[in-house]
Formats: sequence, C-alpha cells, structure tokens
Amino acid sequence: MLVLIDEIGSEESVLREELSESFLQGVLSGEGPATGLRPAGKGSFEARLQKVSGKVLLHGSARFPIVGACKRCVAEVKVEVPVGFTLSLVQRPSIVEVGPGESEPRAFKDEEGTAASFALEAAEEEYFDGRQIDLAPILREQLLLALPMSLLCDEECKGLCTVCGCDLNKRECGCDRKPADPRWAALKDIKLS
Ligand SMILES: [Zn+2]
Ligand SMILES: [Zn+2]
Repeated sequence: MLVLIDEIGSEESVLREELSESFLQGVLSGEGPATGLRPAGKGSFEARLQKVSGKVLLHGSARFPIVGACKRCVAEVKVEVPVGFTLSLVQRPSIVEVGPGESEPRAFKDEEGTAASFALEAAEEEYFDGRQIDLAPILREQLLLALPMSLLCDEECKGLCTVCGCDLNKRECGCDRKPADPRWAALKDIKLS
C-alpha cells in the first residue's frame, strides 16, 4: 500500500484496496494484547489523499468482518467493524531536503483557509520518511483502534448460569444464582482454626 508523494496533488485522489483475510489476520494476531478475534472474510479500505499546506491530508475509511465470542454466553458472534479516521501526514525533515536556515521541509503548495486546511489542523499528525507513504502500518493501527472492546450476541443476552454453566438464552436451569447476602460475605473470609 505504497503511495508516491509526487502522485498526490492538491485535488483529492482516491485509492481503494481490498483487505485480504490474511492481512486482517495479521492485524488481529499481531503484537499487542491478544484480541481473541479473527477475520470473517475480506474487508475494504478507501483512502482519500490530498496535499494541503505542505502536508498530506488522509481521510481513511474501512470495513471488515470479524468473529469472536460473546462476552456473556461465549457464542460465536460476527460483526462488521466500521473504521473512519483523518490524519495529517508530515514528511520527516531530512538533511537533504532541509536547506540551511530552514527548519521545515519546503511546502508543496499553500492553500490557507480552505476546508481541507481546517481538517488538516484538527487532524492528528503522523510522520513518514522519503518520497512515499506506506499506508499499511497506518491502516493496521487504525483497524486495531476500531475494534470493539467486547462482543455481545445480543444486548439482551442472558449469559451462562454461574452455577451450572448452561446457556440461559436456551433454557432456564433453575439454579439458585442469588448473590450471597453481603452482610455474611465477610464471614466467608474468616478461617476457623
Ligand atoms: Zn451471548
Ligand atoms: Zn444453572
């Protein structure tokens, strides 16, 4: 997912990519805490790129299907995850490009006051080196940020019985699941010698 800087103009250009299951698998099982999630098919990604005030404004949107376990009843749940982000990509100043007395790389073109430059100011900055931008690591990070904290098969999911473990969505087992009376809870910790 490499984009050459010289191919990005002040007019927005659009890049569409299919996200393969193996790419998504790599994201979900990459470094970082285990997500317990896996891709449920291919996803899609659309990047809109535009040069604004010497930076590259990136609007990204993606969708991808995942499967995981319901946090209450552990049944398999499939959801489509929507992703949307805006980043301002800034070229890291290099010795070659920054002349004496200049602290920043030369701007591509200045267009102050446009809607795009306002979007740029509000966007989080991300750095890139050289004459190209690799969208893959940026996308990987954004997909991870978009993952749901936990999955539910249904808002009303009753979960599993804490006593016998049966799925309460399927049947009521009749177990006594009342929490212990808090006034007596302290006594549980007292060990009789
Ligand atoms: Zn459930
Ligand atoms: Zn039960």
